Amino acid sequence: MPEQLVPRAVVLGGSLAGLLAADVLAEIYPEVLVVDRDELAGVTGPRRGVPHGRHAHGLVARGQQILEKQFPGLLNDLEAAGIRPGDFSGDIRWYFNGMLLRQARTGLLSVPCTRPVIERIVRSRVQKVSHIRFLEQHDIVGLETTADKGRVTGVRVQRHDGSAGVEVLPADLVIDTTGRGSRTPAWLEELGYSRPAEDKVKVDLAYTTRHFRVSSDPFGSDIAIIAAATPSHPRGALYYRQPGDDGLVELSLTGVLGDYPPVDHEGFLEFVRSVPVPEIYESVRAAEPVDDAVMFRFPASVRRRYEQLSRFPEGLLVMGDAVCSFNPVYAQGMAVAAIESQILAAQLRKNAVPRPQEFFQKIAREIDSPWDFAAIADLGYAGVEGPRTAKVRMINAYIARLQRAAVHDASLTNAFMRVAGLIDEPAALLRPGRVLRTFRRSGRPAPTPLVAARD
Ligand SMILES: Cc1cc2nc3c(=O)[nH]c(=O)nc-3n(C[C@H](O)[C@H](O)[C@H](O)COP(=O)(O)OP(=O)(O)OC[C@H]3O[C@@H](n4cnc5c(N)ncnc54)[C@H](O)[C@@H]3O)c2cc1C
Repeated sequence: MPEQLVPRAVVLGGSLAGLLAADVLAEIYPEVLVVDRDELAGVTGPRRGVPHGRHAHGLVARGQQILEKQFPGLLNDLEAAGIRPGDFSGDIRWYFNGMLLRQARTGLLSVPCTRPVIERIVRSRVQKVSHIRFLEQHDIVGLETTADKGRVTGVRVQRHDGSAGVEVLPADLVIDTTGRGSRTPAWLEELGYSRPAEDKVKVDLAYTTRHFRVSSDPFGSDIAIIAAATPSHPRGALYYRQPGDDGLVELSLTGVLGDYPPVDHEGFLEFVRSVPVPEIYESVRAAEPVDDAVMFRFPASVRRRYEQLSRFPEGLLVMGDAVCSFNPVYAQGMAVAAIESQILAAQLRKNAVPRPQEFFQKIAREIDSPWDFAAIADLGYAGVEGPRTAKVRMINAYIARLQRAAVHDASLTNAFMRVAGLIDEPAALLRPGRVLRTFRRSGRPAPTPLVAARD
């Protein structure tokens, strides 16, 4: 416990990153206040402030491990809510370019969680902490600072329905987790600081998601069927079993560079048919739709380089999608938010008001690999703007080969999934033994994609 007794931390945004931040702050702060414009308590379904919550989400291995450590027994809670976690490779059918990677038990868990369910379950844990309070249906309108603007001293909030005036919430530490629409860059400018530089990868992606009830189980012992989008087959599909055993399934279709999966029934099915994994189309073509399809557009991945700023006010940090909003097809956002919450915990143990520059530098080091992994893969699409260095071209050619080889070689599937699950650094794929296996096995003809190969 630090020497100084600090009365209050305020978290802006009560979604996943905000909940994780609040839980960590509560280890140090006697009062933690989470502000969100939405109603949160008792909410079980998608909500307005998290429109992406209607679309398929998977929590990858590293995120699952951190969440389980932070909230022991969380996996049991998720299972009790009907979610079925499974092995990241052994229980998921991963298709690349219509070819099924050889399934292998990695020992790593993936949680194909509907986004509202995981948020509700994490929130219910956080709500049990008596000194964490939620201020719901309040918009965050600005920051309060000292006269010299060197330190943030609180936030200004207002009831979402405008029924009351602006209220000031004093705070020793403010953490912005308001997602990709975060206003911190604008607030910094208003206060006389520079905005952070932004790296962008313009993928012009859309998810279109619909739920169906299927009469025969397409998954068997598996938990998901994933047709990963690639430059040669850019249409993707994330097909997940839903909580409960009543045949409810979730299908998110993904299209890049303006090729948006349609929301109308025929257009949606036609798009599914064009995904090079016939078993998904066969499963839903005659299934009963249980809702209308909804679309979410994602113009670009955005990384805000707070670590490069030389001046930043004390008493303010930024986390989660507000710092880095990853291309969602790589399923990195929640796991990276979890990693950042661990860094926050370590920083808080040193100082109840962590030094912003140190915090941003530490999280930047963790963001580097997943960001590069996704950005390099996205540059494989001819229409995505950006410099295609020799390194980018070499890595993309190699990864495509590795995916071909992994159709025959479970150890390569395993290696790839350890990187995708944020357990290993991407450099692990370049170990000499793996390169050799990749080159040896990638020339072999692929088996028929409909037959699941397992080790
Ligand atoms: C289509 C899609 C699919 C995805 N799939 C995956 C996946 O499979 N795996 C994965 O790990 N990640 C995935 N992600 C990313 C993941 O959803 C986020 O990383 C995760 O939700 C953490 O986000 P966050 O808490 O930082 O912000 P958000 O979830 O965006 O939450 C921001 C919160 O701030 C509140 N807020 C915003 N502005 C204000 C304001 N002015 N006043 C008051 N409240 C405000 C909102 O109501 C909301 O509660 C996906 C993202 C998208 C878009």
